[in-house]
Amino acid sequence: MLTENLADNKIRQGNATPTTANPGIRYDTIFQTRYSKGVDAAALERALQKSVAGEVRFDDGSRALYATDASNYRQIPIGVVLPKTKDDVLNTIALCRQFNAPVLSRGGGTSLAGQCCNVAVVMDMSKYYNRILNIDKANKLVTVQPGIVLDEMRNTTAREVGLTFGPDPATHDHCTLGGMLGNNSCGVHSVMAAFEGNGARTSDNVESMVVCTYDGLVMEVGPTSDKQLEQYISEGGRKGEIYQKLRDFRDKYADLIRERFPNIPRRVSGYNLTELLPENGFNVARALVGSENTLVTILEATLMLLKNPEYRALVVLGFPEVFAAGDSVPFVLKYKPIGLEGIDDTLIEYMRRKGLNLKDLPLLPKGGGWLLVEFGGATREEADDRAHAFMNDVKQLNNAPNVSFFDDPVQEKMLWEIRESGLGATAWVPGEPMGAPGWEDSAVNPNRIGDYLRDLMKLFHAYDYHPSVYGHFGQGCVHCRVQFDLFTKEGIEKYQRFTVEAAHLVVKYGGSLSGEHGDGQARGDLLSIMYGDELVQAFLEFKSIWDPQWKMNPGKIVDTYGQLANLRINNRYDPPATKTHFAFTEDNGSFAQASIRCVGVGECRRHEHGTMCPSYMVTREEKHSTRGRSRLLFEMLDGNVVKNGWKEDEVKDALDLCLACKGCKGDCPVNVDMATYKAEFLSHYYEHRMRPRSAYAFGWIHWWSRLASLAPAVANFFTQTPGVSTAMKAAAGIEQKRTLPKFAERTFRSWFRERRRDGVGYNNHQGVKQKVILWVDTFNNFFKPETLVAAVDVLEAAGFDVVIPKQTLCCGRPLYDFGMLDTAKKMLRDILSSLHTEIGDGVPVVGLEPSCVAVFRDELIGLYPADQNAKRLQSQTFTLGEFLQKHAPDFRVPPMKQKAVVHGHCHHKSIMKMDDDRKVLQKTGLDFEVLDSGCCGMAGSFGFNPDHEALSRDIGEQALFPALRAAKPDTIVLTNGFSCKEQIKQGVRRDTVHIAELLLRAQTQQSSFINQDSGSK
Ligand SMILES: Cc1cc2nc3c(=O)[nH]c(=O)nc-3n(C[C@H](O)[C@H](O)[C@H](O)COP(=O)(O)OP(=O)(O)OC[C@H]3O[C@@H](n4cnc5c(N)ncnc54)[C@H](O)[C@@H]3O)c2cc1C
Repeated sequence: MLTENLADNKIRQGNATPTTANPGIRYDTIFQTRYSKGVDAAALERALQKSVAGEVRFDDGSRALYATDASNYRQIPIGVVLPKTKDDVLNTIALCRQFNAPVLSRGGGTSLAGQCCNVAVVMDMSKYYNRILNIDKANKLVTVQPGIVLDEMRNTTAREVGLTFGPDPATHDHCTLGGMLGNNSCGVHSVMAAFEGNGARTSDNVESMVVCTYDGLVMEVGPTSDKQLEQYISEGGRKGEIYQKLRDFRDKYADLIRERFPNIPRRVSGYNLTELLPENGFNVARALVGSENTLVTILEATLMLLKNPEYRALVVLGFPEVFAAGDSVPFVLKYKPIGLEGIDDTLIEYMRRKGLNLKDLPLLPKGGGWLLVEFGGATREEADDRAHAFMNDVKQLNNAPNVSFFDDPVQEKMLWEIRESGLGATAWVPGEPMGAPGWEDSAVNPNRIGDYLRDLMKLFHAYDYHPSVYGHFGQGCVHCRVQFDLFTKEGIEKYQRFTVEAAHLVVKYGGSLSGEHGDGQARGDLLSIMYGDELVQAFLEFKSIWDPQWKMNPGKIVDTYGQLANLRINNRYDPPATKTHFAFTEDNGSFAQASIRCVGVGECRRHEHGTMCPSYMVTREEKHSTRGRSRLLFEMLDGNVVKNGWKEDEVKDALDLCLACKGCKGDCPVNVDMATYKAEFLSHYYEHRMRPRSAYAFGWIHWWSRLASLAPAVANFFTQTPGVSTAMKAAAGIEQKRTLPKFAERTFRSWFRERRRDGVGYNNHQGVKQKVILWVDTFNNFFKPETLVAAVDVLEAAGFDVVIPKQTLCCGRPLYDFGMLDTAKKMLRDILSSLHTEIGDGVPVVGLEPSCVAVFRDELIGLYPADQNAKRLQSQTFTLGEFLQKHAPDFRVPPMKQKAVVHGHCHHKSIMKMDDDRKVLQKTGLDFEVLDSGCCGMAGSFGFNPDHEALSRDIGEQALFPALRAAKPDTIVLTNGFSCKEQIKQGVRRDTVHIAELLLRAQTQQSSFINQDSGSK
């Protein structure tokens, strides 16, 4: 029964040679499997709605969102449940049993082997079922619900009892403990956990768990003494039956398990059967860890904590090539580092090509392969002493590597970023075929990693694959993202043949197919190469003990749907060609390719830090993450689940809360550019349709402002007078709680024209000074002319001849938020023709509003990729900070002795980066801090929309508002974005300054800034 009918797409391996692979490809298990046949989804949904306090979603959009993880696989779930309580989980399982439906639990959905998608009812534990239940300081234990994110748990235990959890996957800021237990995850500091005696993998750090079987039995599991075992068996019932079967199972297979399970730190493939051996205490909890939800659902877990060294020192060793780095691992391990990772020169080359971590790379010592060796200590001296003792010994070696030492946490972080960006650097490398998981975490004994790397690389080259190799060398685990061609039948067959050969190779080294990501659907079929048929039979029996109905995440690890079944990208992948406004040059001109750029890493599901993704941070909804939106765009083009193409409301809803902050373009490891995709989508969605009123109110702000400037007092009467403004906001579809900015009495353009007539400024010296065009943006021109005035003074003081465009122009930024791309293109065309001569003459353009500068640096080239003047304008447009730093590096203002907090506009952080602003501020002598405040939440007109106002404020409350409330009244709040200023004013009633105003005031020695609302100086 268990092996029926799936053989056509499975590898018949046993002692297979590579040629026995049979790569038939099946598709039906995307929508239905033999385990889900006959499930009455509508009735199940109704029953769940009645008995679950959390959320139940069976709509197509939600199902599409959960159809894949970070792997190559895709299966459409029956429905999605977001449980709030343990009862919710139990009720869901009970109803699934009643309706014969498979179940699958999900955390962050970052699995790489296909174990987190299935035709099942998916329980997303991450949104609600994510609390810490207990911290036991004395015994160094923590008890959690499975949906909690690792970093949230670690931050709490560190804060409350000074302890941490050893295994830390690279996804630590968004993967969940449930997922780590499901996959038996490990990480950089697994070596530390191993040296502390806890062991490297999550399973080695588990004390006990409360689990639920598909047939509804809830039991606490952990180490089991013989006495307990006898007692449970004698008590009978389902629990007694399980324990009896487990005991018989252990007795039957103990010798084979001892013989065939590799004794290496990173053996993750297969079920964790060694834990059932008597010498390991018949630890049922640990035997269940790594079972990828194919056996039980974890309800609670009690985990072992350890002391986190307070101080760290990092030694980086540069070898001629990565193999030599691998050869040195046994030597380095003798010094008990807390982290030991390796990287190769291909990774560095890929980073260079992608422009990733460019500032960090020079920190690496000379070499073609590196080891990052981290030492810990209770004091700085202790950590440093350990590192120095190690370095002294290293230098005595024959062929000693180049050595660099770091104990500055900032530099250490930069170096770890190089290692942690492995996946980002190896996915979508310009000039290289797309990389994919599939053979990305094999592991051997660390003592043999050098030779294994040599042989693995030979095998890659034999198949004409040329990946970078890097990873947890201290534990023998090798990462890579291989250029598997999953688009063609030939490529898919080659991929399968390669994995079979690679499996034989790693087994030759006594290793494991997976050293941390698990087997899922990608490696399940290869298990008999590693373990032999008899142990694979044991795995089937083990599954049957726990899940006799075969409904727990079926088709994964054992008796899989097939390594080549359900591939998301496959030889029938054929999305429709779409005509787009943007050129999508980085995606070969294809919107479809842009929609598969997301590889599912899930960094957009971080709860804190960085800019991406503000709407996820607040809502904690997959739909409102960059990944979720990308997946929906993929499904939209696929058309099988999400059916209405560009007119699809499910996609529109998901994009609705995208703030177009471009955080993903900067923070996402593969630079998914959701702001652009949103603008493109909306342009099609609204084709031949009216947009909402607010789109015309805000999208056309340039023209409204021009009109208002004819009689600003009248305009302000409508926008500022209580009662009148209420009616006006209602008519324009604007949120009542928001205050509209006031029009200035006089525009900047008018001031500038008059000033020229008066003959003031460096314009008198034309031809002597370098000319610079000050970009007169709509917001500053009509609402805050004083900012542009300040910029004129600063630029002139820096020695430039400031001119402005002759015509009133606008970059069109507000239009993108509403997909008004025809108009946006026209406005850019006007700019290109109006400034044609100056652009050709190389006159730099300085913009004060970061979102306008970002249009010239980003959207302009996306809409006019082949236009030479567009390219010129892109390269000669600067923020004020950039311009001063690049064109007037010696410009100084008198020193300021004040404190400041700096909030960077999201487009500034993502596209232009804040480095030059930082350098300019450093020269002012200001005592400043650049906040890690993400997007302010206002994002142009986003926060003025009644449907977005609450979210907008909540985004502000994430980091920005608390930081500003904590800042003293006399601390300067510096921000350049017009909407950021509004958000700050309306959110925490603080006044802000633009960098132009700050420099001007320093110049004129007015270094005191008044917080008008607090009235203090
Ligand atoms: C870029 C990248 C880097 C990575 N780096 C590492 C690394 O350094 N080390 C490492 O070990 N892994 C790594 N991984 C893999 C992955 O991130 C880890 O396995 C992670 O722990 C999975 O957590 P998650 O919350 O995303 O789990 P999910 O993918 O949501 O789930 C993982 C498995 O656990 C099961 N599961 C979830 N909740 C439960 C529950 N309550 N009961 C039973 N089963 C459950 C799921 O069904 C699934 O089978 C990486 C992945 C990516 C994409």
